[in-house]
Amino acid sequence: MSSNCLFCKIAAGDIPAEKLYEDDDMLAFRDIAPQAPVHFLVIPKKHIQDPAAISAEDEALMGKMMRVGSQVAGENGITDFRLVFNNGADAGQTVFHIHMHVLGGRSLSWPPG
Ligand code: AMP
Repeated sequence: MSSNCLFCKIAAGDIPAEKLYEDDDMLAFRDIAPQAPVHFLVIPKKHIQDPAAISAEDEALMGKMMRVGSQVAGENGITDFRLVFNNGADAGQTVFHIHMHVLGGRSLSWPPG
């Protein structure tokens, strides 16, 4: 746990979130500012700053994020969805605890702006 990290605090239960899935090492919760009818985040409870900071020992955890995100998408009624990781401020990252956005429930344009 990183002491000043918003998502570590959500993972620890110190800040409330609308949880969709939780187990020992992972959490999915609704984004507070949804950009699509279904928009939630999947985070590992372990503090990893961003995709660039993923180490070899985290590979299974990262694969699990994709499986859990896709599974929770299905449980929330969407079969077509986008999985997004932002790495760094210029890419749109605002919270520096790795998270995967899951977006769906409307038609999504490509490429992103
Ligand atoms: P990013 O811009 O990729 O770093 O994404 C961070 C996301 O976290 C944004 O979509 C925010 O709306 C979302 N967010 C920030 N604070 C909270 C919170 N307390 N609960 C849920 N989502 C949050």
